[in-house]
Amino acid sequence: AKSAGRDMARFFSQETDHRVLARQTMEVQLRQALAAGEFSLHFQPRLNARSRKIQGAEALLRWNNPLLGHIPPAEFIPLAEETGLINPIGSWVLQQACRHWMALEQQGLCKGLALSVNLSVAQLANPELVEQLSQVLHETGMPPEQLELELTESHLMDNPLSAQARVAALKELGVQIAIDDFGTGYSSLSYLKRFEIDRLKIDQSFVLGMMDDAADAAIVNAVIGLGHTLGLAVVAEGVEDLATAQALTALGCDELQGYCFSRPLTLAELINYLQHNGQH
Ligand code: C2E
Ligand code: CA
Ligand code: CA
Ligand code: CA
Repeated sequence: AKSAGRDMARFFSQETDHRVLARQTMEVQLRQALAAGEFSLHFQPRLNARSRKIQGAEALLRWNNPLLGHIPPAEFIPLAEETGLINPIGSWVLQQACRHWMALEQQGLCKGLALSVNLSVAQLANPELVEQLSQVLHETGMPPEQLELELTESHLMDNPLSAQARVAALKELGVQIAIDDFGTGYSSLSYLKRFEIDRLKIDQSFVLGMMDDAADAAIVNAVIGLGHTLGLAVVAEGVEDLATAQALTALGCDELQGYCFSRPLTLAELINYLQHNGQH
C-alpha cells in the first residue's frame, strides 16, 4: 500500500509537471504569436429571426501555432488575460476586424451590416482603450454605429463605477454595446439600468438546452421579455437546429446565431456567404 501511494504521488507530480510545462510552452508561444502572424479572425453571421437575413457577424479569434497546432480561444484567452497579453492581442483584433469589414464594404458586400468584437475585462480596464478605439475607427473609416463591443456581465460588475464610466465613454464614440453570455454572471440586474446597453446575448447553454429542459426554456423566455421591456434587442447564440430557431422566433427573439445557419467562417468563406446570402 505504501509503494502504491508513492507511485500515485509520482504519477500526480509527473502530471503536474506536464501541465506546468505545457502552460509555460503556451505562454512562450503566445508572447511571439502576434509578431509571428499566427492569429487570424473568423466571422460568424447573425441573422434577423423573422426574415432570416444576415444582420451582422461576430469576429472570433483563431490561433494556429506551428508547435502546438490550433489552440481554441477558451484555452489561450484566459492565459492572455492573466499575462496582460490580451491588450496588444485585443487591439490587433479590433484593428484587423475593422479593416476586413471596410474591405468588404468597399466590395459592396456588407452595406450597413454590424461587426461584433469581443472585449476582455483587461481591455475594458485599460485607460488607453477609448483613445485606441477612436484611432482604429479613424484609421479604418469604420462607421462607429456599425461596430458592437461584446462585454460579459462579470466585466461590468468587477468594478461597476469605473466600468460605467468606461462604457459611457465608448458609447460617446458612437459604438454599440452588447452583454455577452447573459444569464451566467451576477444575479444583480440593476446594472442593466445603469449601463447604456443596446443588446443582450442569451448564453448558449440555455439555448442549447431549451428544447429538452423546461427551466432553460423558461430562462430564455424571461430574458427575451426582460430585454424587450428595457428596450434592448435580444440575440440567441448556440442555435444548432431549425426547431430551436422556430421556437426562439415564436418567443419573439430578435436575432439568431449558431451552427444551424453558419459556423464561424474565414474571410474568404464570409465573402462567399455574403455573395449568396447578402441583402441585395
Ligand atoms: P463567445 O463570445 O460566447 O463566442 C461564441 C462561441 O460559441 C464561439 O466559440 C463560437 O464558435 C461558438 N458557437 C457558435 N455557434 C455555436 C453553436 O451553434 N453551438 C455551439 N456549441 N457553439 C457555437 P469560440 O470561437 O471557440 O470562442 C470561445 C470564446 O472565446 C468566445 O465565446 C469568447 O468569450 C472568447 N473569444 C473569442 N474571440 C475573442 C476575441 O477576439 N477577444 C476576446 N476577448 N475573447 C474572444
Ligand atoms: Ca461573444
Ligand atoms: Ca457568448
Ligand atoms: Ca462564452
